[in-house]
Amino acid sequence: MVKIDTSTEVIGLIGDPVEGSLSPRLQNWAIDRLDLDYRYFAFPVKKGTVEEAIVGANSLGIKGLNVTAPHKKVAAKKMDELSGAAKSLGAVNTITFTDEGKLKGYNTDWKGFVNSLKLTGFEPRGKRCLVFGAGGAAAAVVFGLIREAPSRIVIVNRTEAKAAKLAREMEGLSPGVDLEVRPLSGTDIGKKIERSDLVVNATSVGTGSTEAETIWKTDSNFNPDQLVYDLIYNPDPTEFLKLARNAGSKTVSGLDMLILQGLESLKVWTEEEFNPGPMVDELRDHLRQQVG
Ligand code: NAP
Repeated sequence: MVKIDTSTEVIGLIGDPVEGSLSPRLQNWAIDRLDLDYRYFAFPVKKGTVEEAIVGANSLGIKGLNVTAPHKKVAAKKMDELSGAAKSLGAVNTITFTDEGKLKGYNTDWKGFVNSLKLTGFEPRGKRCLVFGAGGAAAAVVFGLIREAPSRIVIVNRTEAKAAKLAREMEGLSPGVDLEVRPLSGTDIGKKIERSDLVVNATSVGTGSTEAETIWKTDSNFNPDQLVYDLIYNPDPTEFLKLARNAGSKTVSGLDMLILQGLESLKVWTEEEFNPGPMVDELRDHLRQQVG
């Protein structure tokens, strides 16, 4: 039986919706594995009430929070202090409350993504990358990749202006990285995919109401030398990853990024230094039971 008493630290997730989130299962598994006196809960928080939720959590002595859609950008504006990554991305997925009651915001999404690439043995330095999407998740992916000095990143988005905005925001961080922007409707996208070492779906196409869809419709541009990554983890595999597997590409699902960003958040709250790598295989199996 889990011990919970007055010394147990409370951590949790705020977002809307949070029902169905894998984070409580992920974090409480890791907490047990590391033998920590913490418990993680999911708190549904509606748009417009984020500030009250954060201030209330601070007053209650909650140790820290994860922040998920749609609150990551609003939360960043409420922090007393931001980590470098959270400042660059203008988005926070992890909050700590200091002993003095200050709010400190971090972003661990980009790190979860980069660490998951490395776990598969993919080293981004000097590689050609293509990212579908220009929303918050794509920003974290592009930010993480830039820090690893790939030779090129092509950002492909339905709304080209959003991709151009993301590229402008990242430009200053990317000396030596060739940043290109293309509309999803561009006639050269197939060729760009063929010439990429890493292809990432960071759009929301392929989950929920679009589960049967895929951002790229054919397997003919994928090849066995590529790593193809889908940030979506439900379903697992997505239609996008099925196409890539048909072509013999190596694939990674968003479950790895979810696990590794979560374990980075746990490090921030607990200040424990642990190596997340060895936990990933077991956590993947544990969480897949919930994804179904
Ligand atoms: P977001 O900010 O709303 O961005 C959505 C992106 O998807 C935009 O680029 C949008 O293009 C594109 N898109 C949506 N519907 C489309 C359609 N029908 N056709 C073409 N493009 C379409 O969302 P987000 O926060 O970036 O999240 C994106 C996905 O990543 C979600 O599925 C989320 O669950 C997943 N994610 C996973 C992790 C993880 O740890 N594995 C972490 C974060 C997010 P426009 O700009 O043209 O609208």
